Amino acid sequence: MNVLVINCGSSSVKYKVFNMESNEQILNGKVEEIGTKVANHSEALKLIIAQIKDVKIDSVGHRVVHGGEKFVNATLINEQVINELKKLEPLAPLHNPYNILGIEMAINKWPQLIQVAVFDTSFHSRMPRRSKYYAIDYNLAESEGIKRYGFHGPSHQYVAGRAADFLKQGLSDLRIITLHLGNGASACAVEFGKSVDTSMGMTPLEGLAMGTRAGDIDAGIVLKMLEKNDSDSVSRLLNKESGLKGISGVSNDLREIEKQAELGNDRCRLAINIFAHKVRKYIGAYASVMGGVDAVVFTGGIGENSPSMRRRILQRFDFLGLNIDEDLNNDVNKANIGCGLISASNSKVKALVVKTNEELMIASETKKIFDKVNKVNVEKPVIPIAVSARHLHLDKETFAKLFGEGKEPTKLKDISQPGQYACNERVNLIGPRGTIEGVRLLGPLRSKNQIEISRTDEFKLGVDAPIRNSGKVAGSAPIIVEGPAGKVSLTEGLICARRHIHAHPDDAKKLNIKDKDVVEVEISGGERDLTFGDVLVRVKDSYVLEMHIDTDEANACELVKGTGGSLIYENIAGVEAKIAF
Ligand code: AMP
Repeated sequence: MNVLVINCGSSSVKYKVFNMESNEQILNGKVEEIGTKVANHSEALKLIIAQIKDVKIDSVGHRVVHGGEKFVNATLINEQVINELKKLEPLAPLHNPYNILGIEMAINKWPQLIQVAVFDTSFHSRMPRRSKYYAIDYNLAESEGIKRYGFHGPSHQYVAGRAADFLKQGLSDLRIITLHLGNGASACAVEFGKSVDTSMGMTPLEGLAMGTRAGDIDAGIVLKMLEKNDSDSVSRLLNKESGLKGISGVSNDLREIEKQAELGNDRCRLAINIFAHKVRKYIGAYASVMGGVDAVVFTGGIGENSPSMRRRILQRFDFLGLNIDEDLNNDVNKANIGCGLISASNSKVKALVVKTNEELMIASETKKIFDKVNKVNVEKPVIPIAVSARHLHLDKETFAKLFGEGKEPTKLKDISQPGQYACNERVNLIGPRGTIEGVRLLGPLRSKNQIEISRTDEFKLGVDAPIRNSGKVAGSAPIIVEGPAGKVSLTEGLICARRHIHAHPDDAKKLNIKDKDVVEVEISGGERDLTFGDVLVRVKDSYVLEMHIDTDEANACELVKGTGGSLIYENIAGVEAKIAF
């Protein structure tokens, strides 16, 4: 099975073809100078098609730089995905539009093939919130998506995995600091296989000093620059005229800077010192973030090829238990196996050089989806997850007692299930042990009272609420409800809602489920993956696809906005595969 990997940028398209049985690269090439020598991207694709014409392509993997908050995993591309990707363009205006162009051209050419988007940001998408959020206004961060997304994900993930294999240890047993040091550079704290922090941020401008990018600077500097420059000029200054190039005044290429430094160029020496100093700071920081470190891995053009930069970075780390072996460091590339140790035999923390292969990572993510799709051969929708905070439904009579005769519920806003809405009206729930204030009414009024709370709420109220399907309130727990016009002591109606999926018949068909099925759903993409069992399926024409869990359940998987669930099919007759797009 062969995978074509396409990396479509503004002025170049790079590609590689891998045989995924052997993981071998069969072809590799690029078309550059688009817009000058090559007329446009579609001409570039024609050239590539000519170059790969003798190879059978089974699937196409696309590098997409920014997946935003929506795409936490490699994703099967369809029209809906392309539309969602287009919405993310403002987050990465220099990259995503070209990545999408590459996707559209490839779909046009190979409409029958499974095509997959693999994101630079995915590997970092499960970072803890403390790493993900900037200390700025929370509401602004949420509304504008101003968060740390991180980049170079496939590279960090790939080299961490290779390093673990090389050390003959499980990735899930190691705390690794990966240093992708190339023209673009970033560090990543890979704690037991997961990215828990990374130096690039909302854009690839943050973090280490790079070839031409500034990396971390005081935000006040940007304000200062804006006094005399417009934002485009500031962007150019920080993205194109800073970093090694800005300091040295010579080049963005470390090879040239090292040469000039040897000849006594002081600014080149300073550039080298700054570059190394920043990387050292991140190593110290990430060792603290992970409460220790087992290995430091170098990759990228500089990380793989500059022994002197590696030595400079790793000096005086004895206190961390890391000692470099000078000979190994100088000779590491000679074995040419793409992976080698550079730490001394007595070094508690291992240091390695690993040749990165982002494209192979993209190809293997593509193959995973190719395999999954081919097993079941139908596309399974992701089930959006909705978190139900405590709420209540009331009958007409009880509503009148609580809010006054002749009153009607007033709509605050629609909620996801058609016809249902959150009301402005709220009540207090009074239990033997405590009171919960401000519980919102959902409309319209129903034939029976039903108050839905979480297990945590139960403790607060001092009641035992049974787990019930919605509507099944007979014999459930009593509760006192207090509204502005009076108090009502209900003999039943208080429940913990059983987790459930609302599905339209079309979705049910696609998911191969039916009304009253009880299924398992895997939730991944939050900080802690979790599989929920005992999930009731409810199918109705008026429903839109959504799984409802309560706040305790959402907290248990540290759910993040936009996360979807995937059905686990082992329990359903006739379908074997587990789908998790
Ligand atoms: P990348 O972006 O990963 O392709 O890395 C490219 C950068 O790696 C170049 O701009 C150089 O700064 C650096 N580089 C490549 N080879 C060497 C080398 N032998 N010594 C020092 N730096 C190198």
